Amino acid sequence: MMHHINKHLTGTINNQNINERLARLMEEVEQDKDVQHFLKEHEDKLSEEDILRSSSKLYEFVKEKEKFLSNDESMLAPGYEPKLFLNHRYIDVTYVPTEQLVKEQEENIIKRRVHAVSMPKDIRDATLSDFEVTNERKEAFSDAIQFINQYDTSPNVFHQGLYLYGTFGVGKTYLLGAIANTLATRAHKTTLIHFPTFCVEMKQSIKTDTVQSKLNTIKKAPILMIDDIGADSMSSWIRDDILGVILQYRMQEELPTFFSSNLSMEQLENEHLRFSQKGEDEPLKAMRIMERIRFLSKQVTMIGDNRRLYQD
Ligand code: ADP
Ligand code: MG
Repeated sequence: MMHHINKHLTGTINNQNINERLARLMEEVEQDKDVQHFLKEHEDKLSEEDILRSSSKLYEFVKEKEKFLSNDESMLAPGYEPKLFLNHRYIDVTYVPTEQLVKEQEENIIKRRVHAVSMPKDIRDATLSDFEVTNERKEAFSDAIQFINQYDTSPNVFHQGLYLYGTFGVGKTYLLGAIANTLATRAHKTTLIHFPTFCVEMKQSIKTDTVQSKLNTIKKAPILMIDDIGADSMSSWIRDDILGVILQYRMQEELPTFFSSNLSMEQLENEHLRFSQKGEDEPLKAMRIMERIRFLSKQVTMIGDNRRLYQD
């Protein structure tokens, strides 16, 4: 059958040089197993002329398949595998997304549901299945699973988030990331903020007059995770006008909110929130914030080895 392509080409094109070049190109096409198989499969539907008319497509197919198999960057559609198909009486090439591409695209959609602001990069790949469950961490782990299941079943009902309390390096941030990533696989959006960095950004936003718009985005996040609260000293402006406003809104709207801290709720109230940077003791203001944190979340203690010591 492929011999006929050659014959036709040589017959129709006069220029001898082109003739020879084309004949050589089509010889390559002729060798291709997929082309052979395709032509055999559609033998009864294709005349020699149909095949001739399709020779540039056959050539495109062979060339693009070569690039595809060798992962050549110059391929027309990276991640798409060329396939021959019959378009009436004309052979054409279609580009079919590979399983890997489809998987990557799905993963990207899922990843985009997690909005992480100033968070460590390694939480992007945090999963619950990689979370090492020890005796000390099993309560946090099972509470996390329970939250995910309950929220997923009825997202419009209020669910208390978790207040993960534990020493440096036990995996609080990792667990928050894993919860967010799991929720994302079930189409739920989460915003994670590293609280000390967020505070610095809010202060800088005063200059550009963007405090309100940034505050609005954070306070309205469907699920919010406030990482490392209590790590840096807070001004009363941050405590009352930023954190207070965020928590007030989330309490009213019953939006799930998580925290992680090196301080227990008790310590956060009495050793952190009570004292402004200027050293004033404001127990009532601390109490107001803590009421909201206690409404929004349940304290879970995480104790364990410092995982950071095992790395590198
Ligand atoms: P914390 O927020 O409590 O200070 P991190 O979540 O930052 O601790 O965890 C410390 C380090 O250990 C990080 O690099 C994190 O990626 C890693 N890590 C924590 N928990 C796990 C886990 N269960 N499985 C794998 N790596 C973990
Ligand atoms: Mg942390």
